[in-house]
Order: sequence, then C-alpha cells, then structure tokens
Amino acid sequence: MKDNAQADVVIIGAGTAGLTAAIYVQRAGKASLVLEGNAYGGQIINTPDIENYPGIAHISGFDFATGLYNQAQELGAKIEFESVLEIVPDGKGKIVKTREREIHAGAVILATGVVRRELGLPNEKKLAGKGVSYCATCDGAFYRKKEVAVNGGGNTALEDALFLTRFCSRVYLIHRRDAFRADAAEVEKLKAKDNVELVLNATIDELKEGEDGKLSGVEVVDKFTGEKRIIPAAGLFVAIGQVPSNQAFAGIVDLDEAGYIVAGEDTRTSAEGIFAAGDCRTKSVRQLATAAGDGAVAGLAACQYVEA
Ligand code: NAP
Repeated sequence: MKDNAQADVVIIGAGTAGLTAAIYVQRAGKASLVLEGNAYGGQIINTPDIENYPGIAHISGFDFATGLYNQAQELGAKIEFESVLEIVPDGKGKIVKTREREIHAGAVILATGVVRRELGLPNEKKLAGKGVSYCATCDGAFYRKKEVAVNGGGNTALEDALFLTRFCSRVYLIHRRDAFRADAAEVEKLKAKDNVELVLNATIDELKEGEDGKLSGVEVVDKFTGEKRIIPAAGLFVAIGQVPSNQAFAGIVDLDEAGYIVAGEDTRTSAEGIFAAGDCRTKSVRQLATAAGDGAVAGLAACQYVEA
C-alpha cells in the first residue's frame, strides 16, 4: 500500500494528452500527479514514424513519447504507475481511488485514450500472441522473412503495413472497402512497395490455427462475390480502429453511447472539476496534434478551477 496523497490536479493517463496537461499544470505553478495503468506514452509510442506533428518533420513514436515524459518529469510532475478504480466527489475537489490508496485532487483530468478494437472472432483471444497481434512495432520483428497480413484501412493499418514491408517477405493489407481512411500519402507509399498485396472489399471470417497452436492463415471473404480465400499469413496485425475504455468513470461523468466522455473543445465534462482530454472524449479529429492541444486546454482549465 502507498501513503494517501494529494495534488492540485490528478491526471489519469500518461499519453500525449495527459503528459501535455502535466506540463501545462506544472508551468502554471500547480502540482500535478499523473496516474498510468500501463506504460507511459499511450498509443503513439507504438507508431514507427510520426510525420504530421507540426514543427517536427520526422520522429519515432517512442522518442516523441519519451521526450514528453522527460519534459513533464523535469518540470516536477509526479508520474505513478497505478490503475484508477473510481473517482468520488469531495467538496469542491475529488477523491481518486486506486488499488493502493486514495488521492485528494483539486481537479481531475481524464486522459485515458482508447484501446485497440478486436475482430471478435471465436479463436482471436486464444491466438493473441501466437500470430495475432495488435501492435506491429512491438511484435513485427517475430515475422522477419515471413508472410503477414494487416487488417484495416486507417492510418494505423497503413503505417503498420509500411513498417512490416521493411523486413517481411510479403504483406497483405486486408480492408473491408476499396477506399482508405488513411492519408493519401501513406496509401501511395504502400502501393509503391513490391512486396505488398492489397486485399480489398474483404473481411476476415476465420483465423486458421496450425497444429502447433499458432496462426497458420486467415480466411477472407469477398464482400461482393462471397468468394473465400485463405491467406497464408504467419502473423495478423489487427488495426481496425479503437474503442474507449471509460466504464470506471460512467458513474461520475456522462459518456456517449459509444463510451466516449462527453466534453467539448473546452474539455469540460458533465462533472464540475473533471476535464477530459485527448482521444477519450467526444471529438471529430483524433490526432497527435489535437491530443496535445486538448492537454494544454485541460491543464489550464483545471488550474483555473483549482484557483477559483
Ligand atoms: P481508424 O481511422 O478508425 O480506421 C479503422 C479502420 O478499420 C477503417 O478503415 C475501418 O474501415 C476499419 N474497421 C473498423 N472496424 C472494422 C471491423 N470490425 N472489421 C474490419 N475493418 C474494420 O483507426 P486507426 O487507423 O487506428 O486511427 C485512429 C485515429 O488515429 C485516426 O484519427 C488516425 O488518423 C489517427 N492516427 C494517426 C496517425 C498519425 O497521424 N501518424 C497514426 C495512426 C493513427 P472503414 O474505413 O470501412 O470504416
């Protein structure tokens, strides 16, 4: 058990939005405590190359996230690795309960991000880590010189596929439509690779398991003809978008029907003194730059709330 604590602003989540909020809170002369249930960095830490953050032409997700983490710490932010179970009102402030302790907060910023969406296929969980992966930069190296598939048509899928073309013998990009959500520049880069096959208008209907208990291929079905085909992939990288993970806070802030925290550009939620920043809140553009923008807005709004 840890000793109970208090902070002007407790920030839940150490991704881009949360760490940016911590930087703004510290620079405003207040004390921030960042609580993170997993590892720092959020989703961006697994992005091989960031090429759309203003002022930085190229940087890896790891270097970007580590830079943010170090900057927040150097400014005096405390960053602790523990999961938040509940937030309860405490006068004007809040009590943030973790498994280990209670933390009294003047204000709270929810920056919980999102988690990767699963396919929902019967043996998906069983094959996770045995051929099925949700992170190409984490697991891609296991498939050197092998055939792999990526599922999805957004920036994550296209970036994952591009990354895998560097060392996999063949990369199949499976997407349920023939138009992509990903930036046109990424699509063109991928199409220029000679070890890529686009499998379009197709969905995965079965994950094939080999005798060794590992993924041996994926069965796809063409959405127009109904024709089935087995792609002999040793690895499948699922990149079909994200879902929020905010159920722990459903009792204290309003969530929309998809589970995102209802908050506008001012990051204010339905609860006084609780702000929501980054991908976890209702918004139309979920990008690194908008997560950082939200962090700044929420950090300053939380400081104003504490001072009022
Ligand atoms: P996304 O943009 O939501 O794309 C998800 C893709 O998966 C879509 O193509 C979607 O198909 C497909 N999909 C969704 N559910 C599916 C299902 N059940 N079965 C099969 N396919 C399914 O997700 P993302 O690529 O993870 O990106 C999320 C956000 O982060 C986006 O705003 C993206 O731009 C951003 N991002 C930015 C960068 C960067 O700037 N460097 C990198 C990564 C991500 P449909 O198109 O048919 O709906």
